[in-house]
Amino acid sequence: MSKTNSAPTTTNTNNTATKPESKGGTYSAPTTTPSSKNTVLALPGMCLTEGCKARSEKANFCMEHFDWFKEGLVTKEGRRPSDFDKKFFDYTRRLAKKKTA
Ligand SMILES: [Zn+2]
Repeated sequence: MSKTNSAPTTTNTNNTATKPESKGGTYSAPTTTPSSKNTVLALPGMCLTEGCKARSEKANFCMEHFDWFKEGLVTKEGRRPSDFDKKFFDYTRRLAKKKTA
């Protein structure tokens, strides 16, 4: 019975040679122009509503579109809500009623 008592191979890999931190690299900041989401270019003093060329009179809207804004037909950014068609339909119906009243 011969025992081959091999010495335990302690592979203690203490790799102190690799230093991950290498400072002084040529890091250039990304020059990506921020894509602006709100690209409603409204001139000051003009109605914010898309396609409207009227002068703003109230809260960046012309009087007609200020009514729209009050009725929720247009957001304060001058955009139409997703359910614009339905709202506009209701709005015009209400207007018609008002006129006949
Ligand atoms: Zn307007």
